[in-house]
Amino acid sequence: MTGTELLSVRGLVAGYGAAPVLRTIDLSIPVGTITAVVGANGAGKTTLLRTLSGLVRPSAGQIRLDGEELGRLPVEHRVRRGMAHVPEGRGVIAELTVEENLRLGGLWRRDRADVRRALDEVYQLFEPLARRRRHAGHQLSGGERQMLALGRALVARPRLLLLDEPSLGLAPRVTAQIMALLRQLRNNAGLTVLLVEQNVRSALSVADQGVVMSLGRVVIDTAAAELRDDDQLRHAYLGF
Ligand code: ATP
Repeated sequence: MTGTELLSVRGLVAGYGAAPVLRTIDLSIPVGTITAVVGANGAGKTTLLRTLSGLVRPSAGQIRLDGEELGRLPVEHRVRRGMAHVPEGRGVIAELTVEENLRLGGLWRRDRADVRRALDEVYQLFEPLARRRRHAGHQLSGGERQMLALGRALVARPRLLLLDEPSLGLAPRVTAQIMALLRQLRNNAGLTVLLVEQNVRSALSVADQGVVMSLGRVVIDTAAAELRDDDQLRHAYLGF
């Protein structure tokens, strides 16, 4: 961990109508770290990721990636600057093959040779995808779809990965594999990850930082180990 800030969020307010869902969010995410974002249903975690990736337009505040204000930049420009968002529900296109889905991750990239290399790396990381590269999205299991969604994001060669509920519907063994992979990508490639998870224990087991959201605000922002190990904090904010 270098401590250099990759993502900076200041006074972010956003929502879907008149009433804001995010009510003044401040966050500082250092490069090469994993931050777990946890909190009750409806706290605004998904809305935070959607606002960072440009799907929801903020009504106030700043989002800076590596010092650059993202303002009202559309999604594809954020992808070009190194943000990749894996949404809840995964967004795998059922009619396209595994390979075609993966290629979508490289759509905005000019270096076609590196897209090919990235594809090969994804096949090495996720062996079931290599075996099923010509299968359609709808033929995959839940775990394979999650691998595909994650793989597609990696083909974009992101600096910042925004992951929404990657463990949803997965067997504990597959969840553990995905968490191990995130750790590996952080350690070996310096990837920075914002990980929204209902599976708080899994998320905190891999995270460096832990952020607890409640009613559209950040109520705790601390070392993941502290959230994991401090009984009072856990009882008060995470209910276990
Ligand atoms: P969950 O774990 O249930 O996904 P969350 O913390 O991710 O919860 P959000 O999904 O961001 O929370 O939802 C925050 C609030 O925004 C909720 O009150 C929800 O009803 C509302 N909301 C979410 N999506 C929309 C939408 N597309 N239109 C209107 N309101 C929405």
